[in-house]
Amino acid sequence: MDVSEKTRIEETLARLKGLLGEKGAIADSAGMAPYLAEQRELYQSNARLVLRPASTREVAEAVKLCAEASIPIYPQGGNTGLVGGAVSTPDGVLLNLGRLNRVREIDPINFTITAEAGCVLADIQRAAEQADRLFPLSLGAEGSCQIGGNLSTNAGGIAVLRYGNMRELTLGLEVVLPDGRVWNGLRGLRKNNTGYDLKQLFIGGEGTLGIITAATLKLFPRPREVETAFLGLKRIEDVMQLFARARAASGDQLTGFELVPRIGIDNALKHGVNLRDPLKTRHDWYVLLEVSSSQKDSGLRGALEDLLAQAMESSLVQDGVISSSEAQRNELWRIRASLAELQGALGGSIKHDVSVPVSRVADFILKANAAVSARLPGIRPYPFGHVGDGNIHYNLSQPAGADKTVFLKRWAEFNRIVHDIVVEMGGSISAEHGIGLVKIGELEHYAQKLELELMHRIKTAFDPQGIMNPGKLLKPAP
Ligand SMILES: Cc1cc2nc3c(=O)[nH]c(=O)nc-3n(C[C@H](O)[C@H](O)[C@H](O)COP(=O)(O)OP(=O)(O)OC[C@H]3O[C@@H](n4cnc5c(N)ncnc54)[C@H](O)[C@@H]3O)c2cc1C
Repeated sequence: MDVSEKTRIEETLARLKGLLGEKGAIADSAGMAPYLAEQRELYQSNARLVLRPASTREVAEAVKLCAEASIPIYPQGGNTGLVGGAVSTPDGVLLNLGRLNRVREIDPINFTITAEAGCVLADIQRAAEQADRLFPLSLGAEGSCQIGGNLSTNAGGIAVLRYGNMRELTLGLEVVLPDGRVWNGLRGLRKNNTGYDLKQLFIGGEGTLGIITAATLKLFPRPREVETAFLGLKRIEDVMQLFARARAASGDQLTGFELVPRIGIDNALKHGVNLRDPLKTRHDWYVLLEVSSSQKDSGLRGALEDLLAQAMESSLVQDGVISSSEAQRNELWRIRASLAELQGALGGSIKHDVSVPVSRVADFILKANAAVSARLPGIRPYPFGHVGDGNIHYNLSQPAGADKTVFLKRWAEFNRIVHDIVVEMGGSISAEHGIGLVKIGELEHYAQKLELELMHRIKTAFDPQGIMNPGKLLKPAP
């Protein structure tokens, strides 16, 4: 770096501090530390400054200054992402959206909420509830992840089956482009056929095309009745048969269909606090099934009981319980939540967030279990998650008593085994967490050449300087 460039960068950093003030430009290492940590402890961020602008105008002006000095910008929301997407480098600035946290408008007749990117997901859910509406996105990190992060990773979660992921929940966006201009696409329209759907490029774009500053999101009628069942089944094939039956019988009312393996229950009972086995006997597989209706006295409970009685009669389901109180329902969901939280108690874990067509889920799990066990006898497959969407968190725990470090060194080897099966079945190597840094090599390996070429062209069209979250999702063009 020559002297003039160094001076230019120093001048820009000084102007950023002047623009954003003490609260908006953090330079001391203690103040920066929380933003530079990474959820999975796989990476350590670094940055010239942490920026925390408080308005779209401040974001735009900060981006413009950075663009003029070619300083890389790393957008960050709640920093809960699981693929290293919000990690920054020493030559760049990390731009955290946490201070853009206003709900701009709730329109109960249009069933929409317009909120800034830094709003925490749980706060959006609460704001919708106060207006007697539902914002349905729900996931484990909802107490700290932000709408902008949810949008940029196209987050999914536990109610996609009924309401869709962030792509389907979004009507409009406001985005600061990599040159500092603001695109106002904050429309609340269900119907709008006026050319390319630009917002979809930013959703799931992992901050590589621009910084989302606000969004208009869909709301729904609130559920008045919710019924939750926890069911024990013998075979994974039965789980997916049950799914097909439940979906056909309850249509739109099926809201959640989550897979829980026995290994997860054993682990939860051993290491969890105040968790108990919901069923009296042991089963190889469990399903957490939820139906809901926005009508009172909808007959939901009766329909669920009929469905389960028939499924038990035909031996599809071995045993089950329907929750009889909100407390019991929460207890069932706590078991589901404990699967990811407590897996570490079994030692090292190699993770996959994959999807296949729903009709291939059972086949995938059986094939993948056989393949990984053949490669390493004693390995403990720990598949769980949103199988009603074809999404399996296909995690692998180390063999009991094995060396954790040695096991984790085989991460890429097991990724290849599992991802080969996924791709052969027409599936995806990243169902809901994104690519970030963790899966960039896998995307290069599996994506069609033409897909990659088109993605690089889009990146160049929006960000010719390559300063917006560089090195994420796509490798920098050669
Ligand atoms: C316990 C737990 C459970 C989870 N469960 C689920 C789940 O069920 N389903 C699911 O889909 N995900 C899940 N996740 C991962 C999920 O992707 C994130 O939690 C969330 O969507 C990311 O939001 P965030 O605000 O933390 O984003 P961050 O982690 O801060 O950022 C994620 C990515 O988005 C970019 N970004 C953030 N904000 C913006 C913005 N305003 N403009 C442009 N780019 C931006 C970042 O650069 C980065 O690439 C889970 C994570 C945890 C820790």
